[in-house]
Amino acid sequence: MTPTDIQRALSANGFPCGTVDGVLGPVTKLAVTKFQEAFNIGPPLKVDGIPGPVTQAAIANLPNLSEHFVVDELRSHGNGDCFVKRELLAALEAFRAKIGMPLHIIDAYRDPQHNTAVGGAGDSMHLWGLAADVPQICGWRVVAGWQVWSGIGDRAGAISHVDLRHLSPHNETPHATPASPARWTY
Ligand SMILES: [Zn+2]
Repeated sequence: MTPTDIQRALSANGFPCGTVDGVLGPVTKLAVTKFQEAFNIGPPLKVDGIPGPVTQAAIANLPNLSEHFVVDELRSHGNGDCFVKRELLAALEAFRAKIGMPLHIIDAYRDPQHNTAVGGAGDSMHLWGLAADVPQICGWRVVAGWQVWSGIGDRAGAISHVDLRHLSPHNETPHATPASPARWTY
């Protein structure tokens, strides 16, 4: 891949590199870093912002970020960025396996402007790429028993939001873990 190829592939998939100029400047380096944090096929990528051979091979998998999840279902409905964390992808894969069928993602990453526009909490785990809104397909007790998520939002008895708040430095419920998730109702 040439630097231009890398910039095109990342920019088209929610990791914006700014002007496609073949220069690996700070904007591209940030995009590579965000991609390295998100990609969840195989071992974790080294997060260094450098598009070396291993990262380039990973970029070639786009728009797939994990076995079953692609950029378009995870990127912000605001600016289109896809700054999710690989731990979210791993948890979504585990969750999908527990459910035993494909999982539709309603909302995952939110850029700050979009989060404000939709009335999201200022400390929303969607801002950190650690949350997903999902169809109300299970009761929260069942989901809590799977020990995948550390935050579970419950609407009228069925889950509608799941997150990994224990991985966020902005977590205001530090006691929450997948073994003992925080749960709230809407
Ligand atoms: Zn949510």
